[in-house]
Amino acid sequence: MDLARKLSILADAAKYDASCASSGTSRRDSVGGRGIGSTEGAICHSYAPDGRCISLLKVLLTNACAFDCLYCVNRASSNVPRARFTVQEVVDLTLDFYRRNYIEGLFLSSGIIRSPDYTMEQVVAVARTLRQTHDFRGYIHLKTIPDASPELMAEAGLYADRLSINIELPSEASLKTLAPEKDVRAIRRSMGRMRARIEEAKEEKRAPAFAPAGQSTQMIVGADDVNDRTILATSANLYGAYRLKRVYYSAFSPIPDASRILPPQAPPLVREHRLYQADWLMRFYGFEAGEIVDEAQGNLALNMDPKLAWALRNRERFPLDINRADRGELLRVPGLGKTAVDRILAARRVRAVRLEDLPRLNVPLGKVMPFIICPGHQPHRLIDRADLASRLAPKPRQLALAL
Ligand code: SF4
Repeated sequence: MDLARKLSILADAAKYDASCASSGTSRRDSVGGRGIGSTEGAICHSYAPDGRCISLLKVLLTNACAFDCLYCVNRASSNVPRARFTVQEVVDLTLDFYRRNYIEGLFLSSGIIRSPDYTMEQVVAVARTLRQTHDFRGYIHLKTIPDASPELMAEAGLYADRLSINIELPSEASLKTLAPEKDVRAIRRSMGRMRARIEEAKEEKRAPAFAPAGQSTQMIVGADDVNDRTILATSANLYGAYRLKRVYYSAFSPIPDASRILPPQAPPLVREHRLYQADWLMRFYGFEAGEIVDEAQGNLALNMDPKLAWALRNRERFPLDINRADRGELLRVPGLGKTAVDRILAARRVRAVRLEDLPRLNVPLGKVMPFIICPGHQPHRLIDRADLASRLAPKPRQLALAL
């Protein structure tokens, strides 16, 4: 099989991994669009620790996996074309694309070849060759295999900027049913080891860097019947226990010849979007996992963002006086982001913030009016209006545009 065909299969197989957002690009500067140098479908975008958006070559080493996770298109029993790169082929492709300025780094994952250790040795060999033989300074994100030996994981961290281990599913019961060869204890053990090594390297100034961009994971959403409340509780636990940088949510996509246990349809894409918004609220807005989802519903509302849904369930907390509320309270006002809150706090140090000041502070008046009080604005029980949800929730067309 020629290299271009392998690339096409192995880049396509990697697109299900959400830890690095795929955004197929097509370069037209190679013969037929698919020759060497063509990056079709193989480039994704990710964010570096400093917030820069970077382009990565996103591929699997192989999609011929020895495991048979029911939700995965690369599982052993799947009827898809298979391919496998050699270590040298991935190294050459990475260097070739890097020199052409197509990419700034590599995202490498793999199906299980023979055994977790054998697979991890190959993955590590790619990173080692790039770093040691070619002095490659680009970004490297390695997806690691939880059952691989701690020594291999430790070596991976010396070369990779980021390491990730997929938790795969939000509950142990689902993992047992849908991916019986995976062991949640092994996954968590590996995450724990990584956390310890990352922290040790940071504390010990002279120690070699170890995965300086931290560790992340991915959870598949909608392959089982676990609700959003449980998903967010699992994420909160992972952030707390293992100091993960990110939990990525990947909406289950139906696969050919799928098991009957799996749902026939993908969950609505907006569910994934709402989970990311809720995750953001946990990480940056001081929300607890347990309060974001309505306990009676179990799932996030799809027709409005989780912060607005939370505010409408907690109307007794509003309206808030924006000249007296503390930062944590202001962050809970629908429509107020961190930047707007910081601007309000800075402005009110000088004098009281008035209604006419808000547009200058980039505060979206239409969204915040029912939830705040300030000189020039008394909402007069606007917060109690029965039609408030329908007035504030985005219209279907706006929802579609937001996705
Ligand atoms: S181990 Fe990974 S690649 Fe293999 S079947 Fe399971 S999810 Fe797919």
